[in-house]
Amino acid sequence: MKQIPRLIQFACLAAVMMLAFNADRLRAQGQPPPDHPAVTVQGQIYTPRSILARNMGTNEDQTTAFPPHKIIGNIYYVGTRTLTSFLLVTPQGNIIINSTYERNVPVIQKSVEQLGFKFSATRILLGNHAHGDHQEGDALVKQLTGAQVMAMAEDVPALQAMKPGGKEHPIDKVLHDGEEVTLGGTTIVAHLTPGHTRGCTTWTMKAQEGGKTYDVMFGCSLRAPGAVTPAIADEFNRSFKLVHALPCDVQLGDHGAQYNMQAKYAKLKNGGPNPFIDPASCKLERDISEAIFNAILAEQQKAGRPFLP
Ligand SMILES: [Zn+2]
Repeated sequence: MKQIPRLIQFACLAAVMMLAFNADRLRAQGQPPPDHPAVTVQGQIYTPRSILARNMGTNEDQTTAFPPHKIIGNIYYVGTRTLTSFLLVTPQGNIIINSTYERNVPVIQKSVEQLGFKFSATRILLGNHAHGDHQEGDALVKQLTGAQVMAMAEDVPALQAMKPGGKEHPIDKVLHDGEEVTLGGTTIVAHLTPGHTRGCTTWTMKAQEGGKTYDVMFGCSLRAPGAVTPAIADEFNRSFKLVHALPCDVQLGDHGAQYNMQAKYAKLKNGGPNPFIDPASCKLERDISEAIFNAILAEQQKAGRPFLP
């Protein structure tokens, strides 16, 4: 009869060890968000978990090059299947937006070269927001190209905490809301759209194609955290309004899924009009993010905890 308690003890120990192992894995990957609340936008159901899964894809998606391609004007795609990186080509050198993970820097370099451009001609490195999947590679890009790294003031502390392999995060110029960055006749404007990070930056610029000028928006993620505090709520409310007001014919984002990149790229092969010029869907990601944000707030209110720490 003594065997049973010992068996139970052993089973408990094994269960505790498994839980600890899983907890470690979760921590390493970031806690997955809950599968609620659910919202429906244009007939599609979204939850915090489904949005994150859609954005990130698999580990392989995050590190495998998506075919590099021209988007419009002097704007090219050089990122992976799910983590975007954009190349702006000018006669005085190039701008890259989003270095992504450090391990992806050689992937981006190869895509730039595959398009016939020089990675070493990168003069300025920008980013959408201070999370590792978008800006961890900044130090390595600077090391390889000598590019000037510019970042929104509100994201500087989070960027400085990002030290892949112990490398200091380079910041050559601190930007403020509305500031312009100009190189070789291309001007791109930094808009502070906080919430997802304190310095989340939505970039806008003009691009020319077929004698026409188009407004391009490189949207920053508007994905809300699991618990919305008053400060975060204020930031998001400001950002939703601003993004709604920004002129947009071509919407891009820090993850390809935010602008349906793979489907639009597939349409490129058919010829015809540029599928990236799509003002009708410009604000879709904003609308999805706002719907989820409001649903999270409503859930918190219902639970009698309008704002969790
Ligand atoms: Zn992020």
